[in-house]
Amino acid sequence: MLPEFEFVSPGTLAEALALLGPDVTPLAGGTNLIVELRDGNSSPKRLMDISRLRELRGIRRENGHIVIGGGTTISELLVHPLIAEHGWPLSQAAALLGNPLVRNRATVAGNLVNASPAADTAPPLIALAAEVELTSKKKTRLVPLDEFMAGVNKTMIRHDELLTSVRWPVPPARSAAAFYKIGLRKADACSVINAAAMVVWDDAGRCSQARIAIGAAAPRPVRARKAESALLGHALDGRVIEAAARLVDDAIQPIDDVRGTAVYRRRMAAVMVRRLLAQIAEHQAGRR
Ligand SMILES: Cc1cc2nc3c(=O)[nH]c(=O)nc-3n(C[C@H](O)[C@H](O)[C@H](O)COP(=O)(O)OP(=O)(O)OC[C@H]3O[C@@H](n4cnc5c(N)ncnc54)[C@H](O)[C@@H]3O)c2cc1C
Repeated sequence: MLPEFEFVSPGTLAEALALLGPDVTPLAGGTNLIVELRDGNSSPKRLMDISRLRELRGIRRENGHIVIGGGTTISELLVHPLIAEHGWPLSQAAALLGNPLVRNRATVAGNLVNASPAADTAPPLIALAAEVELTSKKKTRLVPLDEFMAGVNKTMIRHDELLTSVRWPVPPARSAAAFYKIGLRKADACSVINAAAMVVWDDAGRCSQARIAIGAAAPRPVRARKAESALLGHALDGRVIEAAARLVDDAIQPIDDVRGTAVYRRRMAAVMVRRLLAQIAEHQAGRR
């Protein structure tokens, strides 16, 4: 049974922002929120349907960035050429999120604002250096995604804000990125652990920028900064990849839960980073 609530369904972003407040909970695809309501974990006074807001939809290239409206569904990510070309790890994550029915409803903003440590869109977006756009009646601010997600189901969003878009710089031509997820099944499974990496290299083939993000291994998705630093200035050979993979352990604080043990997650974090970097090295070898 669902609890009682008032239901409002604004037709424009301006109307939605005017209605927002501490007693109002936005409802996008409902694939997290309706479960929370049904299980009695949330009892909002007012639910505001934001799924009709056209301003939250669409994927575009703008001022050197790829911009995704917060209300973009996971299914839409899967078929969009800009995501395939400039957000490959996000495309990979979208293909592995839930099942087709969930992907048709679930939105990018919902995945990020829900702030599960295992949220599958988070590591790829963090690896791509994404920022979220938070809009209130008064102003719009941009926050780096790795700061936005602050803990288990905690973010920096305020009651008077909506997550209106997510954006990242178009990756340079000399770059590659990838996503990896381990679940208890091959499909329709929450991540036991997930990770994404992006590497940019110089014209001599040495790593000039690296971002590695790990999910479901700490209260929020984290960057493996020491592992990233170990790559800088080096070609991605077996020795460098191994050195980076060993440093991932430092960034994570995994726990035992129904899906896996902390020990397993620690081992798999290193394995995933090794595989991601090996894939990126293969891609680089094919391009140069
Ligand atoms: C069967 C099943 C399988 C799943 N599998 C996966 C999986 O494999 N990987 C994974 O990561 N997740 C999975 N999920 C979780 C869920 O589908 C995703 O987190 C989804 O992206 C949530 O989006 P939504 O639009 O449904 O959010 P909602 O449920 O509508 O909202 C979630 C939260 O975000 C807030 N919110 C939504 N949009 C905005 C906005 N624009 N601005 C401000 N706040 C907003 C809501 O108020 C709410 O607090 C699964 C869920 C189900 C039911």
